[in-house]
Amino acid sequence: MSAHKSSKRYERQMNLQSLPENFQDILQSSSVLILGAGGLGCAASLYVAAAGVGKITVVDRDIVNEPDLNRQVLYTPEDIGKKKAKTCEEKLHKFNPEIECVGMCKVINEKLLKDLVPRHDIVMDLCDNYPTRIKIAEACQKYNKKCVVAAVNGLEGFVMVTNKESACFGCLYPEEVKLSVSPPRVLGAAAGNMGILAAIRCILALCDVGKVGVMYCLDLINMIVDEIEIPKNANCHVCCKA
Ligand SMILES: [Zn+2]
Repeated sequence: MSAHKSSKRYERQMNLQSLPENFQDILQSSSVLILGAGGLGCAASLYVAAAGVGKITVVDRDIVNEPDLNRQVLYTPEDIGKKKAKTCEEKLHKFNPEIECVGMCKVINEKLLKDLVPRHDIVMDLCDNYPTRIKIAEACQKYNKKCVVAAVNGLEGFVMVTNKESACFGCLYPEEVKLSVSPPRVLGAAAGNMGILAAIRCILALCDVGKVGVMYCLDLINMIVDEIEIPKNANCHVCCKA
């Protein structure tokens, strides 16, 4: 009997409306590559682990700094100076020992993506810079993987699931949009909110539930959600290369 069937851990998420009957089996046999262990990645990884996704790989090159603590809720003051990816791995392992978690303190570059993307079922782009997001979108196109893209700024954010047929991050942002303040200002709860939404989209996408190529934009002050269908851009330098 597989571990999750002998455990009561997932009892309260059995027979959820709109999800397949074998939901837990799908999650247990799935692998998620989480790129970025910051404000979004902390929340997302915790809930992906809580749901019982069998294998989680988290990649982040950074170490924990004090200004991270307002939003990166897996880390405590004792973790300052430690590698985020390794700390994340330890915390997720304690949180759910039934699943496999690996943290990698590495730069997200083409070589790493070539190694990791094909070995996972789905990718979560929760990183914080444009060039890396474009590289991730390219790798997901190349290896035909779904990607959950999420971002936060202040009290706003978006989440979108992409696949090979849908618009990609490059269709959405052909060029980098410079933020007015650097580093950007973010309320921790807003980052957590977008990370958790990314976790939900990821869990649903693993079950082939939910819309792909649709950007959900959240204004958390006025509690407005805009649902924008993003068309594939025929000139996209990521997904429509000649
Ligand atoms: Zn594209």
